[in-house]
Amino acid sequence: MTLPRLAPMPHEFVLAHAGRIGLFCCGLIDMNRRLRLVQRVAEEHCEGAAGFSLLEQLATIAGMSVTDYARHHSLLPTIRVADSDTDPVHHGSAKRPSITRNFGARLHTAKVHLCCRCVDEDISHWGYSWFRRTHNLVGVEVCPLHGEALNWVTDPDPFSRLPQHWVKLGDIERVEYDHASQAERQFQTRLHEIYELFLDRDRPFASPSIDGPLALRLHELGLTGSSNGKKPLLSDYVLNSTPRAWLRRHCPQLCEKEPGVRFSTFDRLPRPYALPGSGFAYAIAFATLFDSAEDVARSISRSVVRRKRDYENSGMETQKRRSSGEWMFHGCA
Ligand SMILES: [Zn+2]
Repeated sequence: MTLPRLAPMPHEFVLAHAGRIGLFCCGLIDMNRRLRLVQRVAEEHCEGAAGFSLLEQLATIAGMSVTDYARHHSLLPTIRVADSDTDPVHHGSAKRPSITRNFGARLHTAKVHLCCRCVDEDISHWGYSWFRRTHNLVGVEVCPLHGEALNWVTDPDPFSRLPQHWVKLGDIERVEYDHASQAERQFQTRLHEIYELFLDRDRPFASPSIDGPLALRLHELGLTGSSNGKKPLLSDYVLNSTPRAWLRRHCPQLCEKEPGVRFSTFDRLPRPYALPGSGFAYAIAFATLFDSAEDVARSISRSVVRRKRDYENSGMETQKRRSSGEWMFHGCA
């Protein structure tokens, strides 16, 4: 038997890849049968693969290294954007197997999206279509290639078929998105470009290298990372700078916040010793604080160090200096 194409397509992510293998090999099957099939095919490629995580099994089938597969075919780079380790391991690294097992197949959005024009182009070029991670990033509701609003699949098992089938069956619904709002269009474009910076990375940022530039930018804008009542917080800035209709759809709890009251999702970000924030929070913070993804890239490419005396002090005084933005750039990349 000639096996159908089992390699992942560009930006195809773990569950979508598994779904396509299931459909190509066995037709319409449920999730459990699909996972057992992937396990069996992986075992044929590598003895012992049945015990691997789904991401590792798919990498085995594709003949790729797990780290390459995780970087190009999972949403890990947007989920695990920063790591408290000073030398973060690569996405998919065998040194931290629990991350790959627990998060490797995770989606970024609650629903699974497609672009109808991408579907048409895929079919005319490849004969079939596939789900892409660039259509499935929280807060991005427009295809980056075509600028058209995305659609989400209404069927409870979106990976049982390919995007073209859902379009043909009519089991899709257009996302809420105000195409007429220039502010929303610009914000979503910037947000997508910042996600692309994350997707391009083979491992997370060490926290100081991403929190430092954020803290400096807060300082430049007269914002603060702690609720001292004198300066606005990052969450206040996000609340007032982000298109309100978009915010109501993607972070409705923030719309209920009072000025000066901490909102942990955002206000924990520039604090050096806190647990790293979510990829969504980092993307929104950067999209709000900077005018363009190029500015973000420039800022995080410069290494940032804290002033020497910060290391020599501890407790409240040190925390005060940090939150007042006492970071400095150390050279340029
Ligand atoms: Zn498209």
